Amino acid sequence: MARVTTHERMLIGGELVVSESGLWDDSINPATEEVIGRVPSATAEDVARAAAAAEAAWPAWSAMPVSERAEQLREFGRRLLARAEEILHVEVADTGNTITPMRGDVRMAVESLNYYAGLAHEVKGETFPATPDKIHFTLREPYGVVARIVPFNHPLMFAVARTAAALASGNAVIVKPPETSPLSAMVLADIARDALPAGIFNIITGPGRTAGDALVRHPAIKRIAFIGSTVTGRAIQRSAADAGVKHVTLELGGKNPMIVFPDADVDAVAKAAVGGMNFTWQGQSCGSTSRLLLHEDIHDAVVERVAARVADLRVGDPSRADTDMGPINSADQLRKVVGFIEDGRREGARLLAGGEPPAGAEFQRGFWVRPTVFADVRPQMRLWREEVFGPILSVGRWRSLEEAITLANSTEFGLTAAIWTNDIKNALNTAKRVRSGHIWINGFGSHYLGVPFGGMKNSGIGREEGIEELLSYTETKTINVIL
Ligand code: NAD
Repeated sequence: MARVTTHERMLIGGELVVSESGLWDDSINPATEEVIGRVPSATAEDVARAAAAAEAAWPAWSAMPVSERAEQLREFGRRLLARAEEILHVEVADTGNTITPMRGDVRMAVESLNYYAGLAHEVKGETFPATPDKIHFTLREPYGVVARIVPFNHPLMFAVARTAAALASGNAVIVKPPETSPLSAMVLADIARDALPAGIFNIITGPGRTAGDALVRHPAIKRIAFIGSTVTGRAIQRSAADAGVKHVTLELGGKNPMIVFPDADVDAVAKAAVGGMNFTWQGQSCGSTSRLLLHEDIHDAVVERVAARVADLRVGDPSRADTDMGPINSADQLRKVVGFIEDGRREGARLLAGGEPPAGAEFQRGFWVRPTVFADVRPQMRLWREEVFGPILSVGRWRSLEEAITLANSTEFGLTAAIWTNDIKNALNTAKRVRSGHIWINGFGSHYLGVPFGGMKNSGIGREEGIEELLSYTETKTINVIL
């Protein structure tokens, strides 16, 4: 396969540049293991250049009339849409995610730009009637330079949708794409260079432990926004604390329960359980409902239907419109998934579907595994406790409501949960007691623009996708006027 991007450059201070080290990191297509592009391997010096460019650029950006800044963000969105097809093909080849649902990613990114452009006038302060002879009020000011670190599952969408709020509130951003799927950022660099003032949108590529860590530690960057694993999130908190006093928000992993009551429709539940696993991105989704907690009265009926649906999923070339599941994103990630399958078997979980690579000559190269379902998964097993971030659904069973809640809350994570029942009391009582930040009742998976998303427990800090995210990129300054 030919290389999929024309530019192989980072974006620093409005210029497309290589790393001062002269080093590169290859990116491969996970369906074929072919090298399809490369990105500069940034050093701490590159990060310092980006931070200096951003630091120089944000005061004028933040001083611009709000409507003008908002219009520039909308224009950025229009330019992204004009190249949506190109981005789509790069992203599918570089991530392995299937093409049909990936068509939504650029649109989602642009909707987010438009949403925060519209909200930009809401970055405002308050007045306080604290004393009769003074006026007390607050202003909201941007942090200045914001670092945004992005995971591999939706690189372009996160790089744009999750910087829109920071930009709308007057900050300059430095984006760090994931090392295994960095190529859409090369197209993004080209678009952002032309759409936004120099230094407002910067892109630094390279490994997390070097480029990412240098960003986290840079003294000019007080605001760090991270999406990725809990382990990395904790490492970032440590590094940030070593380097200074920083505002870190974290969108991390999940081991999300889908709790099903006996009155739920078994066919609808089976369909939702498979949909909630996001097999279209190989289960590599933070919000995947990867623990299916079934009441014992409907357990067998649902399990049988889920196994049949999963066995029917078409695994193959992610660029084909009729493919249901593509390859795992990287060799490391595949090793991790296979390790979970081995541990599941060893610990006595019952394999119902998948568990091995698909058969056929086209799967000789690439990172393949069939979508997998294990039943009889119990709380002491690794499959119950740890996030796979891969295509493995674990099924457990319960008898009483207390047991269901205890099981749901029995991991370190608390990102999402789904509850399936027609009984409003059971639905709301359960929703109140499950320690997850985002809950669907009789639904799964969807994010709704403007509705906060984020995790409790070790799944994160902060909420994104609503006005709280916008304000999180500002600091409050209080002014007291003595009359
Ligand atoms: P990861 O934590 O391995 O990497 C994420 C990013 O962090 C990458 O860009 C990486 O280069 C960078 N990084 C790694 N080490 C770093 C360090 N020491 N300092 C600074 N940056 C560093 O995650 P991943 O494997 O790319 O993504 C999968 C994880 O992301 C899963 O746990 C998933 O649940 C989570 N995720 C969460 C959400 C959410 O909204 N909560 C959304 C998507 C993915």
